[in-house]
Amino acid sequence: PVFQNARFHISAHHLRDLPPASGIEVAFAGRSNAGKSSALNTLANHNRLAFVSKQPGRTQLINFFTLGDDKHLVDLPGYGYAKVPEAMRMHWQNVLSRYLSERQSLAGLVLVMDSRHPLTPLDRQMLDWFCPTGKPVHVLLTKSDKLSRSEATITLNKVRKELQTTWGEGISVQLFSSLKKQGVDEAETVLGQWFFS
Ligand code: GDP
Repeated sequence: PVFQNARFHISAHHLRDLPPASGIEVAFAGRSNAGKSSALNTLANHNRLAFVSKQPGRTQLINFFTLGDDKHLVDLPGYGYAKVPEAMRMHWQNVLSRYLSERQSLAGLVLVMDSRHPLTPLDRQMLDWFCPTGKPVHVLLTKSDKLSRSEATITLNKVRKELQTTWGEGISVQLFSSLKKQGVDEAETVLGQWFFS
């Protein structure tokens, strides 16, 4: 597993609080409740590290993890939570847009979407900010256990088509279930390529 040796490093409110951009960094983003923490924990193979962002204090922070060898995993704050005050929403839009478009060490973005509600307006906003960099995006359509097999296939094909038509060929997409541990190998293959090739 690519996240086997992950260690929590720092939580940041501002880009200036992040470690210098060096080595390879992969970021996870997604709408609040899309299943991002569960996906991170599944990929981390339930090691002691909790990629848990359930404490309210931690949700609105950039959580930076070190995997060793100058490789980093970044858990971006979940977005779209209705009760966030406007000023905080503006702050995070500003931080996320700048992080995604300017961070030199960022090698790829994993965008986590609930397979029942893919491509929300804020998901599209994230893609609009990141895709001009030309770096790859991998979309996890989570909670796929909640769809029937045929619904899942239809969703996968539909989302893939829309992603590639609107944002280009650098985007891959897969079904994922933390509950059923489905799609883990596929996700690890993509992350392995970003980190190790
Ligand atoms: P986050 O806010 O994006 O970090 O989302 P969480 O990982 O905390 O998950 C939000 C809710 O969805 C929780 O109640 C999880 O138990 C549930 N959930 C997450 N992943 C899955 C999944 O693969 N299958 C199912 N059925 N539920 C999931």
